[in-house]
Amino acid sequence: MIRTKEDYVRSLRDQKLNVYYNGSKVDDVTIHPAFIPHINSAAKTYEMALRPEHEDLMLATSHLTGRKINRFTHIHQSVDDLIKKVQMLRLLAHETGSCFQRCVGFDALNALYMTTYEVDEKHGTNYFKRFENYLRRIQEENFMLVGGMTDPKGDRSKRPGEQADPDLFTRIVEKREDGVVISGAKAHQTGAVNSHEIMILPTQNMGPGDENYAVAAAIPLNTKGITLIFGRQTNEERKQECGIDAGNPEYGMVGGEALVVFENVFVPWERVFLCGETDFTGILVERFATLHRQNYGGCKGGVSDIIIGASALASQYQGTLGASHVKDKLIEMMHLAETVYAGSVACSAMGSRTKSGAYYPDPLLANCTKHNITRNIYEISRLAHDVAGGIMATLPFERDLRSPEIGKLVEKYMAGVEGVSTENRMKILRLVETMTGGTALVESMHGAGSPQSQRIMYQRLGKLNEKMKYAKKLAKIAE
Ligand SMILES: Cc1cc2nc3c(=O)[nH]c(=O)nc-3n(C[C@H](O)[C@H](O)[C@H](O)COP(=O)(O)OP(=O)(O)OC[C@H]3O[C@@H](n4cnc5c(N)ncnc54)[C@H](O)[C@@H]3O)c2cc1C
Repeated sequence: MIRTKEDYVRSLRDQKLNVYYNGSKVDDVTIHPAFIPHINSAAKTYEMALRPEHEDLMLATSHLTGRKINRFTHIHQSVDDLIKKVQMLRLLAHETGSCFQRCVGFDALNALYMTTYEVDEKHGTNYFKRFENYLRRIQEENFMLVGGMTDPKGDRSKRPGEQADPDLFTRIVEKREDGVVISGAKAHQTGAVNSHEIMILPTQNMGPGDENYAVAAAIPLNTKGITLIFGRQTNEERKQECGIDAGNPEYGMVGGEALVVFENVFVPWERVFLCGETDFTGILVERFATLHRQNYGGCKGGVSDIIIGASALASQYQGTLGASHVKDKLIEMMHLAETVYAGSVACSAMGSRTKSGAYYPDPLLANCTKHNITRNIYEISRLAHDVAGGIMATLPFERDLRSPEIGKLVEKYMAGVEGVSTENRMKILRLVETMTGGTALVESMHGAGSPQSQRIMYQRLGKLNEKMKYAKKLAKIAE
């Protein structure tokens, strides 16, 4: 069982995944500078669970075994569990200032738990029992899972079976007596190079004819036929140097995403949880998306708290913190952060019990939360750039500061208020820069679904007819 950070790192070293970074194969991800921050960040989900003061948020009681387990492997048993999930994410974001990656697999587990129950009810299959057996092992081993939903999707105007290359959507290529064979890929997979297994889910609602694409299954990432290609991030090279220029050298700026490719990967039946039941793909996608969108006010709310703190420090270090417009901008940033957090808490508080017994957040409010993230984080970042000043974008390298020839010049001209070192000023400006740029922002836009996918949910769940009825009643329009 994985308990400590050391256990976690050892488990990653031992599993020997087929990982590529910048054109080369990586033998040991745990010592490669591109991955260390992501590993440190995910390791926090293990480390914090060992701290007695965080036990209430980080641990839960398994409904299967009655044992204490890491909350990231738990099936929500109450509204309280849903709220604690959000509180836990904000807590972890305060520790890392980054993505700690483990929520995606957590959400895949919960979405499948509630959905397999209903698939069995309708189709007489035995996925739920199978899934419970699988879950028991994940809880006991305390494994980290990738939530593998997004397919590459090729030509987005075409359905899976219409693509020029059928592998652009992940699919079953062969059904055997002992299991299925999978080909295709999952794109943007957060934490993939430092997880143990991937839980693949259909990427979208599937219809008749798409049966081979209606597949959910858990696959150990070191299975033969899997290749992980790590994605390039903004300021990627800075991770290699660490130090001040990396901004958040210990935990990185975002989760660390990889393209996970499956070339004829065999999956035994005990790990298959949907196989051809296209009528349940829509609800499975919706549930995973809702559970994932629920998170964003927790984790991004917490990340925003760090951006706000860093912006205030940058301002203090250059003597502007007393200015009324700066104070007002910091207050606006806090308002935006608390707004997204409020959304996550609200959709959790309005959660309900599914037939399986697992609890599910309110889908409309969860979508509203994520939709606010696609805007508020950009606005928070815009205000952070305003407050921090242009120097954030043109600051010299850390090596210039350390240089025997020009270090003194950097020290002298990058100084802010008296009593604050230039080094500290540079550190905080780099933190603002790294948390408000490139890859980190795009995650707020597209992670858990592009904005349009949330607007579609408003169309479906927004009850426009009821709203029209209320208006007619007040206006005394009788029809
Ligand atoms: C940092 C990051 C981390 C992520 N982590 C994970 C993860 O761990 N697991 C996972 O499964 N996924 C993950 N994702 C993927 C995320 O869910 C997708 O990015 C998101 O669903 C959008 O898909 P896409 O990137 O393919 O965008 P696209 O589909 O290319 O969308 C781009 C634009 O085209 C529009 N569009 C797309 N299709 C159509 C269409 N048919 N008709 C009209 N308009 C269309 C969209 O609305 C959007 O405006 C992550 C993404 C990011 C950026």
